Amino acid sequence: MINSPNDIWEHVLEILREKLTQVAINTWFNECSVLSVTDSRLVLCIPSDFKRNIVESRFKVDIMNALRELFSGEFDVSFVGLSEIKEADEKEMTRFGETEVYSFSNFVVGNSNKFAYAAAKAVADEQGKDYANPLFIYGESGLGKTHLLYAIRNQLKKAHPEYYIVLIRGGDFVTELITAIQTGRSLEFKEKYKSADVFLVDDIQVIAGKDRTEEEVFHIFNTLYEAQKQIVLTSDRPPEEMLLLPERLKSRFSSGLLADITVPDYETRMAIIMKKSNQLGLTLSNEVMDFIAKKITANIRQLEGAVKLMKAQSDLMDAEITLSIAQEVLAKMFREKESDLPTPEAIIEETAKYFNFSAQELTGKSRVSPIVNARQIAMYLIKQLTNLSGPEIGKLFNRDNSTVLYSIDQVAEKIPRSKELSITIKDITANLNSN
Ligand code: ADP
Ligand code: MG
Repeated sequence: MINSPNDIWEHVLEILREKLTQVAINTWFNECSVLSVTDSRLVLCIPSDFKRNIVESRFKVDIMNALRELFSGEFDVSFVGLSEIKEADEKEMTRFGETEVYSFSNFVVGNSNKFAYAAAKAVADEQGKDYANPLFIYGESGLGKTHLLYAIRNQLKKAHPEYYIVLIRGGDFVTELITAIQTGRSLEFKEKYKSADVFLVDDIQVIAGKDRTEEEVFHIFNTLYEAQKQIVLTSDRPPEEMLLLPERLKSRFSSGLLADITVPDYETRMAIIMKKSNQLGLTLSNEVMDFIAKKITANIRQLEGAVKLMKAQSDLMDAEITLSIAQEVLAKMFREKESDLPTPEAIIEETAKYFNFSAQELTGKSRVSPIVNARQIAMYLIKQLTNLSGPEIGKLFNRDNSTVLYSIDQVAEKIPRSKELSITIKDITANLNSN
């Protein structure tokens, strides 16, 4: 049965074996994989230019004959090498034009990020290989990790147009690998990444617990590291808090330089508001800036969002932003944010999934300890993340308010003592936010 590009290729090799020696097959076809196949055309990927030329000039006719034998029809065969794949990839990347604007010069440096900034800059200046490889940047969402990663990419690309710079989000890496495996292109996948001059992965934390992806990352990491290629990873938490990540990867990720980004202090927030409003051609009074900086404390993406809303409001009214207008704008922004709150149902669903139970088990009667534990965590999260009262939470679980309060207390009490629990809470929350 032939039902995948890989099967086709196996059958072709089978036929070629009648004519060629095993040594010849191993030598010339060992890196070969089918890139795509349609009614009348087969595209083969052979990463090495040398081998591709040989196969094309010496074996193309044999491959076409084999295909004719298999399908009783004419096939055209074409070949691509790594360079074409890379080119297609880079085109793909630059489509996201906005990321071009992330630079070191428009990154506001303060106490909370100066270490990460300096480390990223050293890497972009190509001075980081001895001590900052890999560079692992971690911190909560909205604090500038992606910005720094793109700043590295943009600077290196400018200085070395010839570098093959891979920048990929952890989630895309996982999806791409799954597709590559399904379509029999995992070899090409590996080659593409192993030939990077610079390897940048945003939000690497998502690979934790995905065995096959971890395996590939491990090999790619080792190959690049041994070849002294620069690697930079970002994550929402340090390697040791990636509970599902195997030890060997944790230690690889921690083997260079760990740089965290924390919440910006007041001065930094003021500087960011100033910079962002300047960029938009908006003038804000000190009073208004002070108000925003005191209201939004934990997330630079939100600071930026607030400034953009002020700009929109000021354009709309064709007037300066007064304190009372600023207050209204932010109040509206927070109200809208509340409407994005996860629903209690989603929290129950996500918590159940995390512990491998069903939502029914979580809201049901079972007193088995792992279920009770998960149920308490779900109640705790609902209390934290929604506006529901104790009795309302109780209804969802068919329990009374005192049980709910007891459960929430239990979890709250354990969190400071149990790193594992606090990471679990963080994980479930992150899963909820990524929905
Ligand atoms: P993260 O990847 O950590 O979630 P991002 O890098 O996406 O955060 O940053 C969120 C937004 O805030 C981006 O638009 C980014 O340009 C901006 N930003 C973050 N930190 C800074 C900074 N120090 N100076 C200027 N802009 C920043
Ligand atoms: Mg990011």
